[in-house]
Amino acid sequence: MSLPQFPFHPDPVRSGSVVASDKKCRCCGQKRGWIYSGPVYAEKDLDDSLCPWCIADGKAHTTFDATFVDSEAFAADTPTATIDEVTQRTPGFATFQSERWPSCCGEPGAFVTPAGIAEIRQHFRAMEGELMSFIVYELGVSGGAANKLLESLQRDRSPTAFVFQCRKCARPFGYVDTV
Ligand SMILES: [Zn+2]
Ligand SMILES: [Zn+2]
Repeated sequence: MSLPQFPFHPDPVRSGSVVASDKKCRCCGQKRGWIYSGPVYAEKDLDDSLCPWCIADGKAHTTFDATFVDSEAFAADTPTATIDEVTQRTPGFATFQSERWPSCCGEPGAFVTPAGIAEIRQHFRAMEGELMSFIVYELGVSGGAANKLLESLQRDRSPTAFVFQCRKCARPFGYVDTV
């Protein structure tokens, strides 16, 4: 069974936000073979208990008043309908600080994956300079320490790069998150 389409998070298996599981979904009650393992903002504890189909069709949002991405994560000019689509019907991703969902060409990018420096150099080489600028100007780290931070990026623990791709110009872009 192929997963539902998420325009703003096209491959949540690659990113690790959806994992193979025989758990029952707490929303539809079915075992669908896949469970969402990213953050859930809701009154109930719904960690590791929703299937991607109930996220995609909005049922998990309406049933539990749940969202999956912080509504503060977006650029100021992002249309409300787009923020709703991402926060209410798109899998989020685990971060250390509150998440950011940056924009390119006037709309939020599609989330691709968390990445370490090896993956950045292998698949998203064009991003390396931008990540270095982020470390220097946004994180306020400079000189040798900035280089060291860049070299220590890892997919599974801090510091991590989060990779997005623009849905219009296809440019990969993103930011660095640390504990
Ligand atoms: Zn479900
Ligand atoms: Zn763009």
